[in-house]
Amino acid sequence: MPTMGALHEGHLSLIRSSVEENRCTAVSIFVNPIQFNNPSDLEKYPRDLETDLNLLRDLLREDDFVFVPSVTEMYPEPVTTRYDFDALETVMEGQYRPGHFNGVGIVVNRLLRIVEPDRIYLGEKDFQQLAIIRRLTQIEQLPVKIVPCPIIREPDGLAMSSRNQRLTPEHRKAAPAIYRALKEASADFSTRDIAGLISRITEQIEATGLLKVEYVEFVDEASLQPVARHDESQAVRCFVAVQAGEVRLIDNVRIG
Ligand code: AMP
Repeated sequence: MPTMGALHEGHLSLIRSSVEENRCTAVSIFVNPIQFNNPSDLEKYPRDLETDLNLLRDLLREDDFVFVPSVTEMYPEPVTTRYDFDALETVMEGQYRPGHFNGVGIVVNRLLRIVEPDRIYLGEKDFQQLAIIRRLTQIEQLPVKIVPCPIIREPDGLAMSSRNQRLTPEHRKAAPAIYRALKEASADFSTRDIAGLISRITEQIEATGLLKVEYVEFVDEASLQPVARHDESQAVRCFVAVQAGEVRLIDNVRIG
């Protein structure tokens, strides 16, 4: 399973599932420069290989392995590939982080071709990324089964993320407002109009005075396109991106 390191319980839950379900598990740790659209985010991304390897030593078995390539190993030559993920990349993270998913596609394609796994374990924390990688495996005709894994949260509801380490104590205290607002909207979905829910989520998150909402979207789970109204037959998810000081946080919940 691919990671960018600074491992936390969210990563470890995916690794545990893989270890339980497979004969051999490969974990990669690679902070992929070409998926960062913001140079300061790349520079400040938490890195702690020593601690990561100690955590993995406790989880992995004899035949498992950790792959920690260097940037020049992954990209010996300039990369020119341009993927077309179509409508999946014109919304949400794709819209606000230009080039991000192309960089994700390139690195995941390379990792999958190096490791040749039967299955890849991916977290629903990055739900749009999961959809992009599903599409990537079709484009590249990679015979790998995608195993989606649920979001692991802190006891106060904040979705675990390596970037949480970079929150100031004040922003860390405010951040659980994100999941609280999402949960409340999920419970009220059938009784309120979507525009009203989006405004309320935004207001609740921004009422902290420390968090700034970038987007709130209710989208169809398969197409990731915005839904206009409540329809029982549709699987809907609500997604948010929030700026918490210098740190950008994302989260999502299944509605209903
Ligand atoms: P990253 O290191 O952020 O690139 O994440 C590596 C993998 O771990 C991705 O598939 C993520 O979706 C997954 N992941 C990260 N945080 C969580 C979380 N809180 N719960 C579940 N999966 C997660």
